[in-house]
This record gives sequence, structure tokens and C-alpha cells, in this order.
Amino acid sequence: MAPVLSVELAVPLLVVCAMIALAARRSSTISLEEVYEGYQADPAFDHLSSTYRFVPGIGDSDADLLFVGEAPGKTEDVMGVPFVGPAGDILEEMLEEVFPDVYSLPTIYLTNVLKYRPGERNRDPHVNEIQASIPYLTEEINEINPYLIVLLGRIPTRTFYPGEVFKNIRGKVLDRRGRKVLITYHPAAILYHKDKLPEYQEHFAKIGEIVADHRSAQAALHHVQDSLAGRLLSGDL
Ligand code: URA
Repeated sequence: MAPVLSVELAVPLLVVCAMIALAARRSSTISLEEVYEGYQADPAFDHLSSTYRFVPGIGDSDADLLFVGEAPGKTEDVMGVPFVGPAGDILEEMLEEVFPDVYSLPTIYLTNVLKYRPGERNRDPHVNEIQASIPYLTEEINEINPYLIVLLGRIPTRTFYPGEVFKNIRGKVLDRRGRKVLITYHPAAILYHKDKLPEYQEHFAKIGEIVADHRSAQAALHHVQDSLAGRLLSGDL
């Protein structure tokens, strides 16, 4: 049987594929530390930084799955870490339901649109605070490069999709610049409205499906790459 690809073609093709993959992974030129330094130095947040602690994102900086919340609450402000209060407990429980085996858990990063507690009564972030946060959030996403972003509640949803009404797109999985975005409730909403739990579980089940699909696609890709490399090495191509 005639070879599908000659070595002359296959080698440059592999190099180009590797370069594209690398460029896609690292479209950002700025580190997470630099993003957070910039945020802390931004005068747009002076009214909050004088009272509240800066709460950066946390997790695997190469994560597959990025959760975006609204803003730190009281416990997060004390600890300087996102989602360590009651909302974080709900999030953890939901993830345990979908990924009961810890080895099946995808890599995760947690962050908020606004990185300071917005006041003693946890008011909604103001439009100007959201606007000022967007460039930093964009850099965070570019640097982490997740394949799935989960928007937790109205504020992150409004940040990503300003023209949409939360309840109309809740539970949907949208495509955005090569990534998937799932819109769901903020975990605190489940704390106060237990009747929303079944719907929340459905949304988290979707996360499980997306992760499983992504893993199958990755496995298939690796299989093709391995067999291509094997055939190249054996002189078959
Ligand atoms: N709620 C959020 O949106 N973020 C946190 O970090 C904690 C509670």
C-alpha cells in the first residue's frame, strides 16, 4: 500500500502541529503573578483595597476547568483565598458527586470577577468594578487556558454575556473562542434555595459529560499522534 504521507511532508506537519498546539496553550505573555500584581496596583480598586484583602485565584495554573465566581465573601476576605466559606463547601460537594473518585477529578482553578470583598453586606459588584476587572480576568483565562469555564451566577454571566438574561441561558453550554462555557447558579443560591438543587445537579452532570468527552477526544488524538510517530520511526512513512 502506498504511504499516506511521505517523511518530507510528515515531519514538517508534525512540527507545525506542535507549534500550533503550543501557541494555543500559551497565547498569553503575562504570568498569573503579573496579572495579580497589576490588579492590586490598579487605582480602580483603591476604594476596596484600603479595607479588604486582595483575593487572587487559586488552583492549577494549567487547569482544564475554570470556575468564575462573583467576589470574595467574609471568610474569603479573612483567609485571602476564594471559595473557602459556605459557598465553597457547596461547590466541593457538587464536584464530589460528579467526580467521586479523586483521580477522576479534572485540574481546577477557582477565581472571581472582582477580587476584593465588595462591602460588609456583600453587595453586587458595581458596573465600573466589573469593567475594571475584565482585562485581568481575560489575562487569567488566557494564561490558564481551560477548555471549560463555569460561570457561577448572575455576575460572572453578565460579565461574559452582557446582553443576555441569566435565566434564559442558565444551564446552557456555549462555545466561546474555542472553549466551552457553562452557565449555572452561584453556589450560595443553593444554600438559600434548596429547591434549585436538582437543577444544579443537572448542570454539574453536564460538567462531567464535557470532561468525559474531552478526555475521549484527547485519547483519540494521542493515539493518532503515537501511531504517526511510530510509523515515522519505523520508516513506514
Ligand atoms: N462567593 C464568590 O463568588 N466567590 C468566593 O470566593 C466566595 C463566595
